Amino acid sequence: MKAGNATLSGYGTTIFEAMSALAREHSAVNLGQGFPDDPGRLDLRRAAADYVVDGFNQYPPMMGLPALRQAVATHDRRFYGLEVDWQTEVLVTSGATEALIDCFLGLLEPGDEVVVLEPAYDTYVPVIRRLGAVPRAVRLVPPDWTLPRDELAAAFSPRTKLLLLNSPMNPAGKVFSRDELGFIASLVVRHDAFAMCDEVYEHLVFGDARHIPLMTLPGMRDRTVRIGSAGKTFSITGWKVGYITAPAAVLRPITKAHQFVTFTTPPSLQHAVALGLGLDDGFFHGLGVPLARGRDRLVAGLAALELPVLPCDGTYFVVLDASRWMRPDEDDVAFCRRLVIDAGVVLIPMSAFYEAAPPRHLVRACFCKEDATIDAALQRLQAWVARQRSDGSAK
Ligand code: PMP
Ligand code: GLN
Repeated sequence: MKAGNATLSGYGTTIFEAMSALAREHSAVNLGQGFPDDPGRLDLRRAAADYVVDGFNQYPPMMGLPALRQAVATHDRRFYGLEVDWQTEVLVTSGATEALIDCFLGLLEPGDEVVVLEPAYDTYVPVIRRLGAVPRAVRLVPPDWTLPRDELAAAFSPRTKLLLLNSPMNPAGKVFSRDELGFIASLVVRHDAFAMCDEVYEHLVFGDARHIPLMTLPGMRDRTVRIGSAGKTFSITGWKVGYITAPAAVLRPITKAHQFVTFTTPPSLQHAVALGLGLDDGFFHGLGVPLARGRDRLVAGLAALELPVLPCDGTYFVVLDASRWMRPDEDDVAFCRRLVIDAGVVLIPMSAFYEAAPPRHLVRACFCKEDATIDAALQRLQAWVARQRSDGSAK
């Protein structure tokens, strides 16, 4: 039999799927894949169910229901002061994942270069490569995830088609500052590139951190694509409703991709998400509060187990340094597998977010969980650490 596509065949099953399967197999507490325990607001779930029962079940318009496109435009004005034409500048997609694929398909030519900041969400690089484009990775420097400005500047070339920015950033929990964004914007403008901004965690920021869309910076409105997702904002990751805001000329080729990829997204879910985006400011501003509490609960428990945590100002995730409990011959993947089997807790090895030569001592933990789930994971880790200490197997 002939082989499938060589580029994609070279990748394994995504780390999130693999680790969630392992969690089920070992009845482990799953702090791996990023999905909340919170089932989402009842009013939105009921609205979606009602729309299904009431008969909103045929193909909606290809660009998305007007109600949702209008809600996205209004949301962007309300939170970021962006003036968006809902008819030509908003596209509804089946999750941010489809939005990402549509943007890559619609904007890239073989040989184009894409500047990617690592650690990078796992969808980006395989798809860029599959299209014959070339990722140019620039690594943020832990523990503070500092932006190496000289390296970033050097990663741009006349072949750079776009820069990909994920802020707030999965898995690093970093929220880029206005100063960093200004520097990034200056490079994008200087090289006449596009910016593709994955902002699915836009409302999940903590403390004094503020999410600033790159699109709002001077010179960026006409060259930036902004991607959002209802999954994260409304705790409904399984719905897969995403949205793109982009200038009309840039959205046009992206829409051409969308029409051949999914064409459309379930109308019942679109209606319900439109209601969600219309909720009052208090709802959006309150989203970070329980998440920050979950983060603090997890971080305190991990610190007591000699598992220090890197700074985190947003998203669902913290990154921890596992060196203390790793065996000398072990990498992060082997460590995470051992943790599932021996401790009954699932974490995600950070090497999944790097293309080559990843750090091998970092792992990601998800805190968008009930206290009981976090406590159960910590109790299991505590018992496991106690066993490590008594075995003398730790370093
Ligand atoms: N981008 C990032 C950074 C993510 O963490 C995720 C996962 N939720 C996605 C995109 C995909 O979002 P969706 O589930 O809406 O496809
Ligand atoms: N975004 C989720 C995470 O980072 C996973 C989504 C997926 O499983 N593809 O955990």
